[in-house]
Amino acid sequence: MTCTHRAARLCILLLTAALAAGHLVNASAEGGAIKLYQVSSGVLELDKGWLTAMRDVGKKIKVPVAMYIIDHPRGLVVYDTGNNVAVSDGQCESYWGKLCGAFLAIQKREDVIDKQLEKFGYKTSDVKYLVLSHMHLDHAGNMEMFPNATIVVQKAEMKTAWWPEKFQAAAFVLGDYDDARNFNYLELDGDFDLFGDGSVVVLDTKGHTQGHQSLMVKLANTGTLFLAGDAVYTPENEAGVIPGITWNTYESMQSINRLKMLRDAHQGELWYSHGAEQYDAHKHDTYYD
Ligand SMILES: [Zn+2]
Repeated sequence: MTCTHRAARLCILLLTAALAAGHLVNASAEGGAIKLYQVSSGVLELDKGWLTAMRDVGKKIKVPVAMYIIDHPRGLVVYDTGNNVAVSDGQCESYWGKLCGAFLAIQKREDVIDKQLEKFGYKTSDVKYLVLSHMHLDHAGNMEMFPNATIVVQKAEMKTAWWPEKFQAAAFVLGDYDDARNFNYLELDGDFDLFGDGSVVVLDTKGHTQGHQSLMVKLANTGTLFLAGDAVYTPENEAGVIPGITWNTYESMQSINRLKMLRDAHQGELWYSHGAEQYDAHKHDTYYD
């Protein structure tokens, strides 16, 4: 738009209106229209000592298995896929075998990520990016349901999932991803801004596993959420209790600190992967925006 002297006043008004309209478009693309759903892949019954090292060992608890559906104007994102569909409806041992003694999946078929997507009007084939916090059995369990998505995962995690350290091997189930070798991967080595607008950012939070990653999501009304994944299972880990399962304890504690510092810097919230009280306090039948 060019302004002549005669029409200067009108021109300034038009420019102001144009800038305001442009601002609204940007606001929408950068966060105004983003919706986030938090759901759970049933519950896991486990010894609390798996979550909090040396604390409450021997105490059985039931925890949610958090998964997220994020509707961004430029594409649908899923963060974590829960327990494999094969363990649904009392069939834990048929797929996880003896592991069910340590991690009992109590999951109905309708809890599985494909049905959760359907509940909100989406299909697995609508998903543009499947972001995996890591490839443990309760997070990457259904990644093979997403052959059309780009799988966003740390390169180190792919390697460790295929050939884990022996002390970490039990929580990786090869059958969850052995048919996914030819999928399309975005193999990361660190942080990545998924849409280039700062609204959905993958954060390197290694420690729980070699290639663990968390997700920062900026919502217009809710604010900035830090979806910790297993970097922070529960508020006790946030408060300094070492997580019960770690590939590297030092890195794990560094990542917890990183998330807390970022949360404070952005005045956001830290959402845990297996925190029952926090999960119960959240809404799950509709979205956060
Ligand atoms: Zn894990």
